[in-house]
Amino acid sequence: MFKAIVLRQNEDGTTHPSVEMVDRSLLPESEVELSVEYSTLNYKDALAITGKGPVVRKWPMVPGIDLAGTIERSNDANLKPGTLVLVNGHGMGETHWGGLAQRACVPSAWLTVLPEGLSARDAMAIGTAGYTAMLSVLALERHGVTPQSGPILVTGANGGVGSFSIALLARRGYQVTASTGRMGEADRLRSLGAKEVIDRCSLGEKGKPLQKELWAGAIDSVGSHTLANVCAQTRYGGVITACGLAQGMDLPTTVAPFILRGVSLVGIDSVYAPKPIRDKAWQCLAEETDAALRDQISAEISLNEVIEEAGNLLAGRIKGRVVVKVDT
Ligand code: NDP
Repeated sequence: MFKAIVLRQNEDGTTHPSVEMVDRSLLPESEVELSVEYSTLNYKDALAITGKGPVVRKWPMVPGIDLAGTIERSNDANLKPGTLVLVNGHGMGETHWGGLAQRACVPSAWLTVLPEGLSARDAMAIGTAGYTAMLSVLALERHGVTPQSGPILVTGANGGVGSFSIALLARRGYQVTASTGRMGEADRLRSLGAKEVIDRCSLGEKGKPLQKELWAGAIDSVGSHTLANVCAQTRYGGVITACGLAQGMDLPTTVAPFILRGVSLVGIDSVYAPKPIRDKAWQCLAEETDAALRDQISAEISLNEVIEEAGNLLAGRIKGRVVVKVDT
């Protein structure tokens, strides 16, 4: 038996989350069985656990889009028992039992061997949010943005993706402006590396299709009017990455920033990112984060606390990342 968060669907379509002891024989059949040490609580996990978003595609489901742990059994000769690995995305917690459990069984192609210097806990302090932040930074640079290009805006600044984006950009020498709804946390954002902090209400309402050119680039995890206003404020030739929908799934903009200012909008998907990009992002994260930063951004909870914390996360009461120690 192993401990897991299990999501079941009630007859009225709502979600019932509980902490349960699950029989090992119920694990999905797959090539590699893992003993999970740490997982995380992401925005998507919180949507799944509370049932506030259509994340779960199969019932019952073990949520958790991230995990790090040790291989216990493997049908892949290249991945030996005892190896420390992480898995993120690939439909974990959506179509395949995820990481918020003491055991998991996954295809070997989903595994990333932990880069040198990262423990299972370190990897989960970074988690999908930090990895998505790095995918976003790499995408900006692939599209020609450099520290000399000018200021970079990060929206959703106090969230997991936002906090890591600020720190990773600052460490690469960028001048970062953070947009937040929690101005009381401005000092925290400055300590992560933000040069300036602005109130997100200046971006959250419907605005003009073209506005004063402010940003050479932006990392947006918010969507909706915020992303529309970011497009309208991006300088000629600037680049924006879009990964999230914390404000909304809609994008009420016009083509004006794209056809009149040559602005580029680049989509970021962490779930099915190809292995070379995934490996590069994790390698950069191992080299460009340290214990002090990971501790500053993350706080640890136990598996028993996850369900309550999911509600807090969606209510915007959490800063940075939530790491889950699953063997408690
Ligand atoms: P968090 O909940 O940690 O952070 C989201 C942040 O967005 C909040 O902290 C808040 O920042 C801001 N925010 C929340 N509500 C609103 C609102 N109504 N209007 C404007 N800003 C708001 O989530 P994550 O950082 O983990 O994820 C952020 C988004 O990115 C989510 O939508 C998530 O699903 C998505 N995502 C997508 C991935 C992909 O592969 N494409 C991978 C990872 C995440 P503040 O308090 O500073 O204003």
